[in-house]
Amino acid sequence: MNKGVVVDVANIDVTYNKTRILSNVDIKIKEGEIIGLLGPSGAGKTTLVKVIIGMKEVDKGEVKVFDNKMPTLDVSKDIGYMAQSDALYDDISALDNVLFFGELYGIKGEAAKERAMEVLRLVNLDKDFNKAVKNYSGGMKRRLSLAIALLHNPKLLILDEPTVGIDPILRKKFWDEFERIKNAGRTIIVTTHVMDEAYKCDKLALIRDGEIISEGTPKEIIESSGGKTIEDAFLFYSREKGDE
Ligand code: ADP
Repeated sequence: MNKGVVVDVANIDVTYNKTRILSNVDIKIKEGEIIGLLGPSGAGKTTLVKVIIGMKEVDKGEVKVFDNKMPTLDVSKDIGYMAQSDALYDDISALDNVLFFGELYGIKGEAAKERAMEVLRLVNLDKDFNKAVKNYSGGMKRRLSLAIALLHNPKLLILDEPTVGIDPILRKKFWDEFERIKNAGRTIIVTTHVMDEAYKCDKLALIRDGEIISEGTPKEIIESSGGKTIEDAFLFYSREKGDE
């Protein structure tokens, strides 16, 4: 694997019930960058993320994560994953949720409680840590899922639409935190359909109908499209693909 490449997705095809969802997707993700997978709903972003974490098999091509051919549970300790739907235990408190997942990663005892409160503080839930999750709003659940993904300080953080239902002030706090994590040498893959979030990413892959239609820094993508915004670029590359 090339030096500094954390995720290497090589020419993959993915199907669900014989329907092609991803076609010839090829992307390398480097250490220490925030890469945004940008595309409309149904484009295939979640499917790509699931392939990277080993939850979905490919029909063609190869995926390597930290040099492991096809991700397995062994690499999961290095990955923090925030899914699009929150996988939380409703009847117990937020803190107990965090502690439960902490234990899965071998974080136990006093250190576990300290770390749990630290991540809850990061997502502004330190005052609500004792509430049962069933009494949480959708946004609070998203925040709790992020806290859990951050808990074991993973080398690779994969966030599927992390800011859905999050108010603008907290959204900014999330992005500040992503920046801090990146500056600590970690890698973040984030899916979004929100154009303004795209500008905060170091690299972008524009995804439409299961294909990467453009890839590069936001500036490169905009300049090569001849447009002024990411939205312009998205339309340009969508049309270009459509004309093929
Ligand atoms: P995105 O994350 O960009 O919204 P997804 O990867 O969730 O896109 O979905 C891409 C396509 O794959 C959609 O057409 C969706 O209906 C289909 N799909 C996703 N998950 C499944 C599944 N479990 N079974 C069948 N089709 C699926």
